Amino acid sequence: MTITDLDRTVTGRHEALVQEHSAHNYHPLPVVIAAAEGVWVTDVEGRRYLDCLAGYSALNFGHRHPVLVAAAKEQLDRVTLTSRAFGNDQLGPFCAELSALIGKQMVLPMNSGAEAVESGIKVARKWGYEVKGVAPDRARIVVMAGGFHGRTTTIVGFSTDPEARSGFGPFTPGFDVVPYGDADALAAAITPDTVAVLLEPVQGEAGVIVPPAGYLADVRRICDARGVLMVADEIQSGLGRTGHLLATRGAGVEADVYLLGKALGGGIVPLSAVVADAEVLGVLRPGQHGSTFGGNPLACAVGRAVIALLRDGALFDQARDLGRHLRTRLDELVGAGVVAVRTAGLWAGVDVDPRLGTGRAVSEAMARRGVLVKDTHGSTVRLSPPLVVGREELDQAVTALRGALAELAG
Ligand SMILES: *Cc1c(COP(=O)(O)O)cnc(C)c1O
Repeated sequence: MTITDLDRTVTGRHEALVQEHSAHNYHPLPVVIAAAEGVWVTDVEGRRYLDCLAGYSALNFGHRHPVLVAAAKEQLDRVTLTSRAFGNDQLGPFCAELSALIGKQMVLPMNSGAEAVESGIKVARKWGYEVKGVAPDRARIVVMAGGFHGRTTTIVGFSTDPEARSGFGPFTPGFDVVPYGDADALAAAITPDTVAVLLEPVQGEAGVIVPPAGYLADVRRICDARGVLMVADEIQSGLGRTGHLLATRGAGVEADVYLLGKALGGGIVPLSAVVADAEVLGVLRPGQHGSTFGGNPLACAVGRAVIALLRDGALFDQARDLGRHLRTRLDELVGAGVVAVRTAGLWAGVDVDPRLGTGRAVSEAMARRGVLVKDTHGSTVRLSPPLVVGREELDQAVTALRGALAELAG
C-alpha cells in the first residue's frame, strides 16, 4: 500500500515536498510553521508552539518585532539593493551606529555568519602580513576544539565535528586546534606566525559550554603578550543572549575583532559584520574583499532598527533576570532526568540522562507539548528563547521539559 497525498496530513504533505525536492542537509522536527508573532509560532494545522530556539538567537527580539517590521517595510518602499558599486543612504549610518554601539572604529558588513567568519580570517591574515610582519603565506590561526563557526569549506576544515568535516576535504591549511577553556594549551600553540585566536566566548552549538572563570581574560593576556588578535565569534552569544551586549564584555574582556550575525538582522534579513578598529579592518583596500548583497540598504535599515533596540540596556537586564529564573527552574530537574544544566544569560544547555533518550527524542516530546527546542549533541537540548519572553512562558517550557522527561522515563 502506498500513501497517497490525500491520506497525508497537511504537515505530511509539506514534509513530502521538502523530502523530495530540498537537499537533505537538515532533519527538522515534524512541525511546519506558517505564521509567527513574538515568542509564538503557528503551524499549518493551526497548532501553536512557544519558540524556545528563536532561530538559534537570530530572533532575539521575537518574531516580527513591530519596530523592525516597520523599518523593513519603509525601506522596501524606497530602495532595497544597490550593490557596493554605488553608495546607498543606509550604509554609512549603519556602519557608524554599529561602530558606536560596539565601541570600535570600523564595520565590514556581510550577510551570513559564516561570511563574517571567513572575512575575519582574511582580515586577520592580512593584518598578520602587513602589520605584524609574518612572512608570506605563513600565517596561522588558533581555534578551539568543539567550536562552531559555520559551514563553508575553510570553516569546516578546522571543525572537530566529524559529521561537519568528513567528505568535504581537502581543507585550507593554517589552523591549529586547542582544547577550549585551557589557557596553557593556547599559550603553547602560539608561534611567531600566529596572527589570531578565533573563539566563541560561550560555545553555542557545542551545548552552551561556558569556559572556566578567568579563561577569556587569560586569552586576552596571551594575545597581548604574543602580538596576536583576539577574534570573538559573537554571532550567537552577542547582542543580548548572555544578558550583555557582548559575552566577552560580560566577562570584562575586550576582543580586537568582533564577528556579529544572527540577531543583527532582526530575524528578517541575513546581516552579519566584522567590527574592529582601523588598524585591523583598515588593511582591506578596494578589490580585496566584497559581497553583492553585503551592506545592502534593506539589511542596513533593519540593522539600524536592531541597533536602536540594543541601545536600551534594559533588554540586557531583562535577559539576565529571565535567565536567572530559567536557571532556577531547570535546576529543579537535576536528578529528575536531567544530569547537568549550563546557562549564560537567557541561554541554556540541558544534559538529559542518556538512558532516557537522545536530545532529539526530548525535543520531539517537547514539541508534542507545544514547545520548540533543538538538540545539540547526544542527549543535550538547547534553550534560547527570544529575549522578550515572559516568566510564565519560561515556566511553560520547563513544564514541557518535565513532561517530556516523564514520558521518556515511561
Ligand atoms: C550560527 C553561527 C555561525 C554561522 O552563521 P550562519 O549565518 O549560519 O552562516 C558562526 N558562528 C557561530 C558562533 C554561530 O552560532
